[in-house]
Amino acid sequence: MARTFAGELAALEQAALRRRLRIVDSPQQPRLQSGGRQLINFSSNDYLGLAASAELSALLKDGVDRCGAGSGASRLVCGTHRAHAQLEDAIAAFKGTESALAFSSGYAAAVGTLTAIAEKGDILLMDKLCHASLIDGARLSGATLRVFPHNRTDRLAELLVWARENAAADRRIIIVTESVFSMDGDLAPLAEIVRLRHEHDALLMVDEAHAVGIMGPGGRGLAAELGLSGSVDIHLGTLSKALGLHGGYIAGSRALTDLLVNRARSFIYSTAPPPSVAWAATRVVQDIIASAQGDAARARLQENIRLFTAPGTDPATNAGPAAPGPAAPSPAAQSAILPVIIGGEQAALDRSAALERAGFLVPAIRFPTVAKGSARLRVTLSATHTAEEIRGLRGALESAASPERRARTER
Ligand SMILES: *Cc1c(COP(=O)(O)O)cnc(C)c1O
Repeated sequence: MARTFAGELAALEQAALRRRLRIVDSPQQPRLQSGGRQLINFSSNDYLGLAASAELSALLKDGVDRCGAGSGASRLVCGTHRAHAQLEDAIAAFKGTESALAFSSGYAAAVGTLTAIAEKGDILLMDKLCHASLIDGARLSGATLRVFPHNRTDRLAELLVWARENAAADRRIIIVTESVFSMDGDLAPLAEIVRLRHEHDALLMVDEAHAVGIMGPGGRGLAAELGLSGSVDIHLGTLSKALGLHGGYIAGSRALTDLLVNRARSFIYSTAPPPSVAWAATRVVQDIIASAQGDAARARLQENIRLFTAPGTDPATNAGPAAPGPAAPSPAAQSAILPVIIGGEQAALDRSAALERAGFLVPAIRFPTVAKGSARLRVTLSATHTAEEIRGLRGALESAASPERRARTER
């Protein structure tokens, strides 16, 4: 008998892995209305607090007035509004690349690009903690995929030697990594990866979804901060996180983006994103992210990260007694993503529920988003959190970590 949908859901429930949607009744901001209550939101990727800002709302309305609502067709048919071309010029200038290509999401950019540039016989070498969009693109491409343990450049070096021995001369070898890892908030050793890329004559794709807008000069990302942009062949980013809007992009050579226009199926066979969003995103990149206003927001975000991680009480190390598996808390904050590793899936759900009772929204992140047994609370900070909110969360994390108080609150 074929398995049933309901049976599969029951199995997920049993394993504490079932997910449910939460309805939010307010714009995306640190103070959310949900389930008839106000919750302080520590789970958004809206790091600079732009998503619900009056400024972006006005830009988007202006974009609709100028460009209309829908785009009518795929970019290749008749959907390329001038606003899309202007956005791509703005992204290329921002990233310091020859060219850029916008996609309807970062997910579409990742899947479309990997399937376009890699095929059977090519070799993809990917960090173990890379995002699902990169994994899906790699699998769909038909290329040989080898995964190296997280940030282990010694293992990457071995794989590169193996790849050179096993790939035909005309085959591509592509290293794929994130710069800031989405669920751990740590950084890739980009300088060493770039060195290996050159030594082994490979290509390098870097997903900066959680670095763009936040790190580097003018928010250009980690590669820019390290002066390594020129050694990254394929820059991936999203407009949906720090930039507060929606959409994804690839930046690189003109030949790369021209090839993607011809080959990336998520670009070709999907209606163009609304030109109004492209119009607004162009302004966001040029006038907000890369400007003094962006610098001020990044400074506020850094101050909030400092507040949350300041010594005295480290919420991460107070995460609770039993944290099996890779329990290492996030070390000195490297980004705005500050996971508190719990371990068990049910324990993470319980901790999240306790925080919610205290008025904080910090969902449990579980398998398959992270490895089994490494479930966590993924705390993300925004430039628009207040000091009081951050202290409140620290307090709630500390009291939830103390077993006697937990027993009391969870009755
Ligand atoms: C969010 C994310 C993406 C996908 O971007 P969207 O614009 O949300 O589709 C890709 N890579 C990483 C690392 C991400 O965190």
